[in-house]
Amino acid sequence: MQKLHCEIGSFANLSKLFDFKAYSQLALLTNVSLAKIYEFEIKSFFAQAGFALQIIELADGEEFKNLEQVQEVWQKLFSFGFDRHSLLLNFGGGMISDLGGFAAATFMRGIDFINVPTSLLAQVDASLGGKTAINFGKIKNGIGLFINPKLTIIDPIFTQSLAKREILSGFAEILKHAIIFDQKLFNLLASKSFLSFSLRELTEIIDKSCFLKMKAIEQDFLEKNQRKLLNFGHTLGHAFEALSLKTKQSLTHGEAVALGMLLESRLAVEIGLLKQADCLKIEQVIKHNYVFDLDKKIQTADLLTLLQFDKKKKGKNIYWSLPQTIGQAVFDQLVPEAVVEAIVNEFMLEDKNVV
Ligand SMILES: [Zn+2]
Repeated sequence: MQKLHCEIGSFANLSKLFDFKAYSQLALLTNVSLAKIYEFEIKSFFAQAGFALQIIELADGEEFKNLEQVQEVWQKLFSFGFDRHSLLLNFGGGMISDLGGFAAATFMRGIDFINVPTSLLAQVDASLGGKTAINFGKIKNGIGLFINPKLTIIDPIFTQSLAKREILSGFAEILKHAIIFDQKLFNLLASKSFLSFSLRELTEIIDKSCFLKMKAIEQDFLEKNQRKLLNFGHTLGHAFEALSLKTKQSLTHGEAVALGMLLESRLAVEIGLLKQADCLKIEQVIKHNYVFDLDKKIQTADLLTLLQFDKKKKGKNIYWSLPQTIGQAVFDQLVPEAVVEAIVNEFMLEDKNVV
């Protein structure tokens, strides 16, 4: 099972939590912006761990998650004198852990790596599950492998320098874990606005959310069954996300997933899986925390075309992961296309969602 430590101040104490002496070399991979924001913290980490400062800074942005950047990393590691007993620390969001994990797993047939996710989204999602990848041409995450880091350190202190929209983006995945696995966590999330949780409360929420995701992954490392539940909100969410990126009002990943969960909960009601009352509770939490500023250019027809494209990739049907009650979900559900179209259409006509 993946090793994870979630605690306020855990990055500052990392040298007490992990035995760095077993390694010949250490380097930290991050992006240029984070290297600047956390210059002091990074320097004192190296001093405490007893290694010379070796930082690899990548350009900031998903478009740089490619093979050229991986080559840069490999080159740097060779220039630092890395051998098979060296360690790479990935410090950043999902882009850094995806690319850094891949670079480490392939360098000299694989070296150990640690993940220190700094965005809330990466803390509760990307850094768990052992997924590493780079984009290949136009294919998102086209090349990569499943491999676990030696340790994942989650320090909620990093969320304090995030923009509100970024925090809300991470909360969508937390809410997803609550809806599909844990009613108690759902009730806690429904008790007040996401942005009003204290750092201490947030730490408990992150810890619980990670535990739920890791339990699902542990049962299903290669994504055959149980792990499919984690796709809740992502079938329609990805379609909205992709379309919004072509407009001036792009949605964050979390906003798109929140919208996806809202609509997919309605689908679950339509096919007789979820009670209307539970669906309303889910909608309330989502609408209380998120505003969906969609560009008018996004049309139901385009969304349905995108879903069809998705379907072609995976075979005959779209299999949905949907909630059955709050805290429990099922996968491989079929929903008639006409129902999907009606639900999306209905939402598009709720004019408060479109600006
Ligand atoms: Zn997601």
